[in-house]
Order: sequence, then structure tokens, then C-alpha cells
Amino acid sequence: MLNFRYRIKDKDVAELSECIITSNNIWNYALRLQRKSYEWYGKYISLAKLQSHIAKKRKKNKCWLKLNSQSVQEILQRLDASYQRFFNKTQKHPPKFKRWDDDGSFCFKQCGFIIDNDVIHLTDRKIVASFSFLKHRAYPKDKVCTVRIKRYNNRFYVVVCCDCNPKSLARDCNGTAGIDFGLKTFITLDDGKEEVCPRFLFKNAKKLRKLSKVVSRRKKGSNRRKKAVAKLANFHAKVKHRRDDWQWKLAHKLCKQYAVIKIEDLCLKGWVALWGRKASDLAVSSFIQKLQYVAAKYKTDIIKVDRFFASSHICPDCGHKLERKLGLDEREWQCPACKIEHKRDVAAARNIKQWDATVRGDAVRPSSNRGSVSEARTRSPGL
Ligand SMILES: [Zn+2]
Repeated sequence: MLNFRYRIKDKDVAELSECIITSNNIWNYALRLQRKSYEWYGKYISLAKLQSHIAKKRKKNKCWLKLNSQSVQEILQRLDASYQRFFNKTQKHPPKFKRWDDDGSFCFKQCGFIIDNDVIHLTDRKIVASFSFLKHRAYPKDKVCTVRIKRYNNRFYVVVCCDCNPKSLARDCNGTAGIDFGLKTFITLDDGKEEVCPRFLFKNAKKLRKLSKVVSRRKKGSNRRKKAVAKLANFHAKVKHRRDDWQWKLAHKLCKQYAVIKIEDLCLKGWVALWGRKASDLAVSSFIQKLQYVAAKYKTDIIKVDRFFASSHICPDCGHKLERKLGLDEREWQCPACKIEHKRDVAAARNIKQWDATVRGDAVRPSSNRGSVSEARTRSPGL
């Protein structure tokens, strides 16, 4: 399945706004039912029961008729999925109530829409409203499954979900690379190449501070505050888009060159706890996600190296392990065994590249048996 997202061009989106408000209302109603049911009877209402109850309610409630029955059912499915994630402990908190003007979405499954090149018509037996969107790239017209209308940062998007796989891309070379992540240089490769991340948040910190100050000066609940909040949110989104763009390009560049990429399995929560905004500005976890997505297109393997592997304390030439701990300001060090000078990051990247070979030797602690790729721990989405 592939999603294609397009921004809606039209300025008059009152119809869509009302649909989003309705979707938020239905979510809140169902969530309230679940909470009350648990409070009074200690029971969770099953999805089927909830769906049949809401279907009856919908017929009596004129406002809810704005959404078709399948869209309403999809909202309940999302709520149920969120609860199931909470019960399975993959989600920390149960689903929350939404404000009426919160961002949200609703989905057309089989009916209620006609999509025609770059125009989407909402239909209820006849066309009710039409919206044109910026079609910056083509989607396979014959494979459209569902269409979702989404509001994000006061902008409306059409997300077209198509039943097809990502295109596979050709690779230039077939090498192996070890990558070391750092704060100053975003990534260091084993051959000494570096990529420095433009610090997007820090570069725009002054403007963000200015916009935040405007928000805090405005009276709560006022229209001017709403406008200021929207301005701040848009600017934050802009910063994020710039960072995303840079990361996508870097991921493509790496996957095009290497057949195997070895990266550290970092504890990113620890990074953020230690370095705060400096670390979150880099968005390493989001980069790793992008790298994995792009790697599948190029058929590049991403191998996560054990997080307890002391990559920066081993000499990549002779395998000698340093007994003392290197300070964070020691960017270069000399191996006491073979007397070769090493740059800290490059040595770490080389060690990560040679990881399989090193693990077999004595350089790593003997209790470590997290050798295989499948056993490498996955990190929690920290950033
Ligand atoms: Zn050495």
C-alpha cells in the first residue's frame, strides 16, 4: 500500500471543516461511552457492539449524517485500534478526547467520493462539493483503495491510498559502510567522509522565540491568539519540512552507494535526556526510519550493531580495547598497542563496519551474545 498526499488548493473549505468537526464529535462520543462502560460495569464495549449502537444513533442525529456510514465505522475502528495498542502495552496512554477544532481526519472507503485527476468530489447520491488539489505527482488511478481527508496545521490534504508497492531503484555501487552518529557531525562514514547536519531548529530559534512571545502576549481564547498559534505552528512545520527534505536526500545518497549499511542501535532517549534540544534537532530516529524505508527500494541491507559494542574504545587496526574511558572532548587518540593515531568518529565507524569480525574476537565482552541481526534490539521511538 502506498499513500499519496496532496494539498487542497481551495480556500473555501467550510464543508471539509464541518466533516472534521463531526468526526471529532463521534470520536469523543464513542470514547465517552467506553469510559462510562468501564466505570459502571468494568467492561470494554466490543467494536461490533459499538458500531451497531453508533449506526442507530447516527440515523437520529442530523449532524452525524454529514459523514457516510463507512466513514463513521472507520473512526470507531481507529478508536478500537488505539485501545488495543494500549491493552497490548505498545501504547503508553489510552486514547484522549479531541477538541472540536483539533486536527483530524476522516476516510472514504468505497463510496462518498469521486476522484477525477486533480479534483475530489464529495458525493451523497449527487455531488455535494468539489475541491481541487495540487497534484505534484501522479498516482495510479486504477489502484485507488481509500481516500482520506486530513486537516493538519489548518491546511487540508487529500491522502490517496493505492494498492501498489514502492518502485525499486537501481544502486550504483555494492560496498559496505559503517556509520557513526554524532552531535557535531551528523554521520561519519568509515572512509572518513562526513555529513554535517544544518541545525534547522537552532538556525530559526530567534524567529521561533519571537513568534512564541507573540502567542503568550495574546489573550487566551481570543481570535488574535488563534492566528498567532497558527503562525507559530506553520513555522514549526516549515522547519520540520526542511529537515525532512535534507534527511530524505541523504538517505537516498547513502542507499544508492552501499549494499550494506551498518549503524549503531542507539539509545536515543538517553541522547535526548543528556543533550536536550541539541539532540532532538538532529532527529536521528526519524532519519533511521527514512533510511530503512529508502533501503528497501534500493535492496540495501541495514544492519543494527549491538548497542553495548564499544565502538569508540577499540582500535580498528589491531583490535586492542582501551581500558580507560575516553572523554567526550577527546576527538583523537593513540592506540597504546600499535601506536596508530585515530580520529574518534572515523575509528568508531570503522569498528561498526568490521563489527562481525570484532565480535568473534575477544574485543567484546564475552557475555554479549546479541550477535545476529535479528537479535539486535530495536529502539523505542524516542524523538
Ligand atoms: Zn591498535
